Amino acid sequence: MSAAQTPGMHRVVVVGNGIAGQTACDSLRTAGFDGELTVVGDEPVPAYSRPALSKALLTDGGSHELAAPAHGATELLGVAAVGLGVAARTVRLDDGRDLPFDGLVIATGTRARRLGQDALVLRTLDDALLLRDRLAARPSVAVVGAGPLGMEVASAAVQAGCEVTVVADTAPMRPQFGGYLSEVFTTAATAAGVKIVYGTAAGVDAGAVTLDDGTRVTAELVVAAIGDIPNVEWLQDSGLLTDGRLVADTRGRVAPGIVAAGDVAHLPVRGIVRRIPLWNSAIEQARVAAVALLRGDDAPEFDADPYFWTEQFGLHLKAIGHLPVDGDPTFLAGEDPHGPALLHWRHPDGAGVAVAINHRIPIPRLRRAAATGQLPGTVTTSG
Ligand SMILES: Cc1cc2nc3c(=O)[nH]c(=O)nc-3n(C[C@H](O)[C@H](O)[C@H](O)COP(=O)(O)OP(=O)(O)OC[C@H]3O[C@@H](n4cnc5c(N)ncnc54)[C@H](O)[C@@H]3O)c2cc1C
Repeated sequence: MSAAQTPGMHRVVVVGNGIAGQTACDSLRTAGFDGELTVVGDEPVPAYSRPALSKALLTDGGSHELAAPAHGATELLGVAAVGLGVAARTVRLDDGRDLPFDGLVIATGTRARRLGQDALVLRTLDDALLLRDRLAARPSVAVVGAGPLGMEVASAAVQAGCEVTVVADTAPMRPQFGGYLSEVFTTAATAAGVKIVYGTAAGVDAGAVTLDDGTRVTAELVVAAIGDIPNVEWLQDSGLLTDGRLVADTRGRVAPGIVAAGDVAHLPVRGIVRRIPLWNSAIEQARVAAVALLRGDDAPEFDADPYFWTEQFGLHLKAIGHLPVDGDPTFLAGEDPHGPALLHWRHPDGAGVAVAINHRIPIPRLRRAAATGQLPGTVTTSG
């Protein structure tokens, strides 16, 4: 499809230069959009792999770079969108310019929730480089928050030779993974020397985290990994927010000619309107939203089972399907959940979840395993 085949769609502006924004640009071109494409990003650097920030980049300096874009968009980097005129069809930039558009993709992601000035966070490349520098001095570290991000940071800090305490308000990653996998990863973390202190952090001052029962966890470096906040402030006066949330339909549409994708967007998933703040979900959402911008109801809906991975404490987990999962799994391969193993759960509604731990099963096969509950074909395993 060319721009001429999409009536009135000559200029598309993409706000947010993360993976959702970049994928939207690629997908618009793949779908035949040959009009004017502009991507606006407030970070002054080209898009990069955010997941790498808490993995390769922190541990061995591995690459966070993405392949150079081929979509030919005009990239306005180091520039923030500060307002949206829905009726006027313009995006207001912080340098005073108004960018006109016929179609708009909102992909502004999220930022880290902070816990005072004395705790580092990890969301951006700058955050990661600062954290890596600080870890190099091998300080004692307290990580507040025991979700996947907090536990990856704890793992990297252990690898850097630091003494690490995790402040957890519930069992590590239990809300995200469910009890079984939480226990597998908690065992690995404690075996690696991580101390877990249960409680809720009330504040951080130089040298300690104070819990709400008054306990103080002393540490030379505190990292807060306590969630993220969608970047929607620039949409405040747009009329697009519902109770402060940007809610899209199953094709990413939020208003005529306006779509949203990635961490910033709420959308209906299995009957619940929520965000899926995962890398591959951002990619899938952006693909769907870009096509919906051009083709409306003829675009496919977003229905992909999410793919998620994490690397920590010697465990490399890949999961297809909706986590968390309840109860014990069926082992499709292996016997020890610390791997190599391939585990399967089935939700009460019939949806399958397959999890590979230190297992080299390719993603398409893992996807089939999730759906069928069987090990598809022959696979090679590795420790
Ligand atoms: C350290 C870390 C590790 C992770 N690891 C994993 C993992 O292992 N597996 C996994 O599935 N997911 C992981 N994630 C989540 C994954 O990275 C995100 O789901 C994904 O990056 C979301 O992409 P996005 O494009 O929607 O948002 P973002 O990556 O947040 O990109 C949005 C961009 O928009 C910019 N922006 C914001 N406001 C404005 C504005 N007003 N004007 C212009 N630009 C703006 C932001 O600065 C940012 O550059 C991780 C996240 C982090 C932080």
